[in-house]
Amino acid sequence: MRRKIADKSDWFSIAIIGGGFSGAILASELLRAGSRATRVVLIEREGCPGRGVAYSTHIDGHLLNVCAQNMSARANDPLHFVRWAREHYSDQVRPNDYLPRRVYGKYVESTLCEAIEENPGSFEWKRDEALSITPAKGGATIHLRKGCGIHAHAVVLALGNFPPSDVLPLERNELSRRFIPNPWPVNALDGIRPEDSVLLIGSGLTSVDVAISLRASGFAGKIHMLSRHGLLPQTQKATEQWPAAWDHPDTRRVRSLVRLMRKEVAKAAEQNKDWRSVIDSIRPFAQSIWRSFPQPERRRFLRHVRAYWDVHRHRVAPEIGRLLETEMAVGRLQIHGGRITAYRENSDSVEVSYRDRGHGELEKLRIDYVINCTGPHDDCRNPNSPLLSDLLNQKLIRPGPLFLGLDTAENGALLDANGAASDFLYTVGPPRKGNLWETTAVPEIRVQTSELAVHLLLGLEEQRAENAVLERAVA
Ligand SMILES: Cc1cc2nc3c(=O)[nH]c(=O)nc-3n(C[C@H](O)[C@H](O)[C@H](O)COP(=O)(O)OP(=O)(O)OC[C@H]3O[C@@H](n4cnc5c(N)ncnc54)[C@H](O)[C@@H]3O)c2cc1C
Repeated sequence: MRRKIADKSDWFSIAIIGGGFSGAILASELLRAGSRATRVVLIEREGCPGRGVAYSTHIDGHLLNVCAQNMSARANDPLHFVRWAREHYSDQVRPNDYLPRRVYGKYVESTLCEAIEENPGSFEWKRDEALSITPAKGGATIHLRKGCGIHAHAVVLALGNFPPSDVLPLERNELSRRFIPNPWPVNALDGIRPEDSVLLIGSGLTSVDVAISLRASGFAGKIHMLSRHGLLPQTQKATEQWPAAWDHPDTRRVRSLVRLMRKEVAKAAEQNKDWRSVIDSIRPFAQSIWRSFPQPERRRFLRHVRAYWDVHRHRVAPEIGRLLETEMAVGRLQIHGGRITAYRENSDSVEVSYRDRGHGELEKLRIDYVINCTGPHDDCRNPNSPLLSDLLNQKLIRPGPLFLGLDTAENGALLDANGAASDFLYTVGPPRKGNLWETTAVPEIRVQTSELAVHLLLGLEEQRAENAVLERAVA
């Protein structure tokens, strides 16, 4: 039986800033496990709960890049999403289907709603932007753009990926509407006409997404993608189990790890097994591998291996892979590898020159629009986030190793400028990239949210017990 609802003054509150997958699932874990005297406030500046950048799309062609059986929001219930999708989307859903991301957004919201129903009166949704945080006795006050402040005993930053960086050595005011600096905001692509041509800078998942958005809006022109390596994400395929081979004394070096992976891939091929099985076999160990690398090795990985790792690890759904192949075969999509050397806007077009990675010659593209699809920026010293600037100025946070995300302790507590773990400020998901590397997708984030929920609730219980002792002493 539930406890009587506590008097408001007894409430302990946890504020989560960011209502994407990480924030919404952490809130639902807290509501499911917390007592009625625990209040959860979810602060999100845009849209509905659970959507974030990834799941707010309305385009059916934007598919999950992970199959349904691996997308459960609950770490201890692997088929939770498959069951939900059969009930709410189609009873034909199979565990290895790649479903539309908009369906997944509904699932995350519905998972949160279920948790709210289990613990009514304990949840508050705030549609606002958090601008700054002031440490206060037993927690902190969060200041919101619309003016009010929220006191919380613990604050979790679930901010997702940072927005893309500037790719061109030009000030924003030197660029016209022909350059789109960030493809994610709603209506970002609105000015593009069906007969135009576009250059997408980057050829990873963001570019693939933007190409699908353009085609879904009736865009019939040519799409160019330009990235340093000119590599497109690989395509998903059903894989068989392969024993993980990472536990090797030499894998503390990137070179040894790459050599080991190549050997494993060759061994798998001899047994008619696909390279994807080998990549997937080390996925559960990716965080341990990253942590075992000394700093120079992590740097080496970023410089020499990251581009190849990204396209093999972050693969597109089979349907998307087939679409890309068709687009390239009919000449509507062209991939270029090279470095941009010049960018010039004319009255009716843009000219981009690049040095081709293959033959080393200068090449020129003349297009109507250029879209920055380089993907999330890793560095938290990003002028576009007032909240991060405020926390950095107050020295409450510091950049993660190699300026990847934010620096965190094992339990997700943020480290301040001196490296001390905060007792009220935490983060979850992509901002933990510097410490964990593999922390951007659902299978990793759901484990983090469930562990963080346990940690936060335990902390609140301890605080409650301490307060009770103090109250008795005063009486
Ligand atoms: C296009 C795309 C497709 C993806 N597909 C998959 C997939 O198929 N499978 C998979 O496992 N992973 C996928 N991912 C990875 C994805 O990162 C995670 O699945 C997950 O969505 C991350 O959620 P998040 O809540 O951490 O971040 P986000 O979804 O980015 O949410 C962060 C939220 O914080 C809000 N916010 C930020 N700052 C503030 C502030 N100051 N005040 C208030 N609100 C704020 C933002 O508005 C945003 O809604 C995809 C990612 C992208 C970008």
